Amino acid sequence: MATEYVKYVDVTKCDGCRACMVACKNWNDLPAEPQDFLGSAQSHTKTTADTWNVLQYIEHEDSKGNLDYLFRHSTCFHCTDAACEKVCPENAISYTKFGTVVIDQDACVGCGYCTQNCPFEVISLKEYKDKNGKEYRKAHKCTQCTDRIEEGLQPACVTTCHTGAMEFGDQKAMIQKAEQRVKEIKGRYPNAMVYNPQGVGGTHTIYVLAEKPSVYGLPENPVVPTSAVLWKDYAQPLGKMMIGATTMAVVGAFITNNIISKKNKGKDEDGGESHE
Ligand code: SF4
Ligand code: SF4
Ligand code: SF4
Repeated sequence: MATEYVKYVDVTKCDGCRACMVACKNWNDLPAEPQDFLGSAQSHTKTTADTWNVLQYIEHEDSKGNLDYLFRHSTCFHCTDAACEKVCPENAISYTKFGTVVIDQDACVGCGYCTQNCPFEVISLKEYKDKNGKEYRKAHKCTQCTDRIEEGLQPACVTTCHTGAMEFGDQKAMIQKAEQRVKEIKGRYPNAMVYNPQGVGGTHTIYVLAEKPSVYGLPENPVVPTSAVLWKDYAQPLGKMMIGATTMAVVGAFITNNIISKKNKGKDEDGGESHE
């Protein structure tokens, strides 16, 4: 069995240089996205279809009343139980043998169910036009540089990090490293913790956080929506056996559409918090 790899991110060692963002753009050939000034050093509010990781800059008052400047390299978590994979009616999202979660761009129909269900809001749609001017959409996110891993390389962001804030390696070793690091920094950061949420089965990007997840805009206890689990693990396999794969795909579109409608109740007609 292939090794499952984890990207380890120790936010307390990050100096906010943003080299990881540049390395990601370079390796994945992603275009620059000029942004308005946000009033801080942060360049983008969140990840987009063309910016797969974003450096967060957070001004935070700690428990002693001291002002602290926190950083976080924010990107796809590569969940073990990935909500995006569960809700995709086209099976366009899959797990690799390395534990990464990738999108098959040919199979993606741009329905947006994955973007609406990711607990971390890190997957986004991009609009294109075909040669006849017809518009279509595709979902995009960080691949953890699966193409590099296949060649025995590390993700581009990890390779470029000059402070040792990021490392990449065997899942167990990285988790042990994170737990050890939290012990070392508890004196300075009493709220320090390993962020590897079990509500999504654990993740393949884990963090040593200096403060509670909510300080970084992260959910404290993210979970895969129950409706997504019921659909992918029970309704879909049973339905395919009984009524065939094609009919089940249509039923799937209907069910996932309802999941989204319920989620969006009370939001704008175009999805409100859509991550496009
Ligand atoms: S973080 Fe979101 S996009 Fe990434 S694997 Fe998990 S559910 Fe999918
Ligand atoms: S946009 Fe729809 S088809 Fe494409 S990956 Fe997301 S859920 Fe699957
Ligand atoms: S390259 Fe390393 S130190 Fe620089 S912003 Fe990214 S995580 Fe932080």
